[in-house]
Amino acid sequence: MDIGKIITTVKKNKNKWFLRGFVIVLFVCVVLSLYSDFKKDDFVVCIDAGHGGSSIGAVYGNDERLEKDDNLKLSLLVKDELEKQGASVILTRQSDKDVSLEKRCRIANFGRADYFLCIHRNSSENSDANGIEIWVSNTATDDELNTAQKLLENLSGKGLSVERGIKKGFRSGSGDYYINSKTNMPSCLLEIGFISNHEDNVAFDDNIEEYAKAIADAIIDSYEQK
Ligand SMILES: [Zn+2]
Repeated sequence: MDIGKIITTVKKNKNKWFLRGFVIVLFVCVVLSLYSDFKKDDFVVCIDAGHGGSSIGAVYGNDERLEKDDNLKLSLLVKDELEKQGASVILTRQSDKDVSLEKRCRIANFGRADYFLCIHRNSSENSDANGIEIWVSNTATDDELNTAQKLLENLSGKGLSVERGIKKGFRSGSGDYYINSKTNMPSCLLEIGFISNHEDNVAFDDNIEEYAKAIADAIIDSYEQK
């Protein structure tokens, strides 16, 4: 091989490697830009399954049904539904463990959530008491009230009464529920039926997947309307 051919081969190889390098860099840039666009438009929801661990919440019967378990079960399903629709979800707990109210709010605030949904089940000594209640803070904005209203509408007609409606403040006394007052984003506390009421428990068990979808749809709809 003469010197001229050797130079030409070296040049060709150089061009080939330059082209490969260029394609790789271009690919990385495209991936990074898509990723940053996605993150920019990301909608983050923090789902807070009430109670957990030693805080069992309300109970039904002879401790055969614990509120903390119902709350977590529904929270995990709502998470799946929200993620299916493109939202990012933060959970304050994903297993049966104690998490303080302070930590729950810290998780949401630190994660810069756009919406905070706290899931509980109600309870009463009157076993006839039933239905859904949604608690917002005394200073709830119109947007917060609209989201709560949408949650109620989406959940209606699925076996649980919605007549208790939306309430402001705190059930026992003045002020707000801790999570509604200490989170930096719109929030609500959803009491999804009474664990002390047999019919509400049956409705909860029969419709839990529908409830998860209804809740996720309401949150996403409210976000998209803004
Ligand atoms: Zn509770």
